[in-house]
Formats: sequence, C-alpha cells, structure tokens
Amino acid sequence: MAENRIFDLVIIGGGPGGLSAGIYAQRASLDTVLVEKGAPGGQINLTDEVENYPGFEHLSGPELAMKMNQHAESLGLPVISDEVAAIEPGDPAHTVKLVSGESLQSYAVIIATGGYPRKLGIPGENELYGKGVSFCATCDGFFFRGKTVLVVGGGDTAAEEALYLAKITKKVYIAHRRDALRASPILQKRVFDNEKIEMLWNTVPTAIHAENGSVSRISLKDTQTDAASDLAVDGVFIFIGYLPNAQLVPDAIVRAAGGYIATNNRCETNIPGIYAIGDLAEKFARQIVTAAADGCTAALAASHHVEMKKATGTL
Ligand code: NAP
Repeated sequence: MAENRIFDLVIIGGGPGGLSAGIYAQRASLDTVLVEKGAPGGQINLTDEVENYPGFEHLSGPELAMKMNQHAESLGLPVISDEVAAIEPGDPAHTVKLVSGESLQSYAVIIATGGYPRKLGIPGENELYGKGVSFCATCDGFFFRGKTVLVVGGGDTAAEEALYLAKITKKVYIAHRRDALRASPILQKRVFDNEKIEMLWNTVPTAIHAENGSVSRISLKDTQTDAASDLAVDGVFIFIGYLPNAQLVPDAIVRAAGGYIATNNRCETNIPGIYAIGDLAEKFARQIVTAAADGCTAALAASHHVEMKKATGTL
C-alpha cells in the first residue's frame, strides 16, 4: 500500500454491518478498504438458523455470511486480512494501525467490531473452556451427540441454541435466573414444546466440575431460596448476552451505558469521520438487520462527510 495514500473510508470488521457498509461504499464510489481478521460474516457464522432476515425465510448463519460476502466481492470491495492494533483520530485523516505493521490513512473510519460473549465468572468456566464449556452450539454441539447438556441464559440466543442442541443431544436443560424467558414468544413456544428441553427456573450455576479432564457436573443455586444442588452434565453452553468489542475504540470517543459506543442517527461518534455500527453501538435491537441498516447509514454519512470536506476544501 503506498505510504502517502489516503483512503476515503476504512471499515473495521466484516460482519453484516461492515459488509453492508462496504456494499454501500462501493456503490457510492468511495475509495474503501475493509479490514477483517477472521472469516467474513462475524458472529453470524456461529448462528445455526436465521429466520428473520427479510428475503430469506430460512437459511443458516454461514450461508447468509457467504451471500453478504459474495455481494460485497461482486462490487469489488477490497479486503485486507489483518488485525487492527489501534485507531488514531486525526485531521484531516484518521490512522488505522494494523498488527502487521502497516498503517492506513483514511478520511472516514467505520468501526464494526461487534461483540463477544459475556461470561458467568464462576469456577471451571475458563479452565474447562473447550473441555465441555462452550459459547457456540453450532461450533461444538457435534461433540455432544447423544449426551446431556445445560444451557445458561434466557434470551433469544439461549433459546435458539438450546433448540439446535436438542436436535443433537439426548437432553438439554436450560438454567435461567428468573421464572420467565426474555426470548421472543415464537422461540419460547418452540422451547416449551420441545420434549428434550427441561427448564430449570430461578437457577444459576455456581461452579463447573470435571472428571478425567472434561465437564461432568455443574453446581446450581436456586435464586429464590439459595438452595444448592448438583446436576450431572457432559457440557455447559453459556449464552448470557454479549459485551461490546470496544477495546480498539479510542478513549476520546464517548461511551454509553454498558460500554457501548454512543452514536447519533447517522451512526457518527463524537469524533467527526468516525462511525460505530452494529453490536458495538448503543441501540435497542441487536439484530442482523439492524447491523446491516447501520452499515448503510454509516457508509452514506461517511460519503457525505468526505464530499463536504472535498467541497469546502478542508481536505
Ligand atoms: P440477551 O437478550 O441480553 O439475554 C441474555 C440472557 O442471559 C437474559 O435472559 C439474562 O437474564 C441472562 N443473563 C445475563 N447475565 C446473566 C448472568 N450473569 N447469569 C445468568 N443469566 C444471565 O442476550 P442474547 O440472547 O445473546 O441476545 C442478544 C441480542 O441479540 C438481543 O437483542 C436478541 O434479541 C438478539 N438476538 C436475536 C435473535 C433472533 O432474532 N433470532 C437471535 C439471537 C440473538 P434476564 O432475562 O434475567 O436479564
């Protein structure tokens, strides 16, 4: 990459938000590059079934990721496979430093780094990760064919992943800290109708135990009575929400509650030319479609930002 090249737009993250931003940026003829450290698609690669993305009644997460990536590729979106080390705000251009040592200068930067799974913070959770503790049923469910597993959580993810695990395993317990699920009614009904799934209401795990190096038992606590109990399980799948992947976001950018990035209705942060989208940004609904919508909004806003700067001669 030429050292003095200044891009119009650098997009960080190749999930639904980043890829949608890339599609809109290519169509707006912005000089763009997308940086992604892993496979395109981000977290949707970990999703078994997607049933609420308009135009597709039913397809798998990896299929949707592939279609989005193919769409971006068909428009010639340049992609760099690398990890971003730092974002340094500047004027007129911001700098995106890559782990490989390269630096990208750009008038606009869209940060679409998504989120990562929240942890329970109990003994055994870290130690037994990959030995029966998992944060992804689609990735690890296969290893529990015909076995008994426990899912922790009460949201859409816990419900969807429990339904997926019920297809593979012998028995699925769902431990939820309250007496009602947060998941959408359609998913709740499927969970309650599934004979392999048993709800453990008002229940939280307190420790995960192993025998011969892999999960064998979980200690539980009743949140109403504090009564303790133990349950024999082969696997523990934890789906208790996500936290924003905001480590790269410069300190000067304003955070909202929970560490999410505060943005306006153009997905702008408080630093002109830097945008935060998808699961990273503060919002009501964290869905694939809302991440994609953010990508559109941010790319169009970035296009306007670059055009205005060019028109007023501030570049
Ligand atoms: P979520 O909606 O935040 O739900 C997290 C669940 O974990 C809640 O039931 C919460 O209990 C529980 N929880 C949180 N911290 C806990 C702790 N320390 N110990 C025990 N339980 C704990 O997270 P999510 O299910 O991953 O969903 C994230 C977002 O993605 C949501 O907006 C969701 O709608 C969306 N999503 C949508 C779909 C879909 O539309 N098909 C699929 C997946 C995800 P409480 O209920 O008591 O707070």
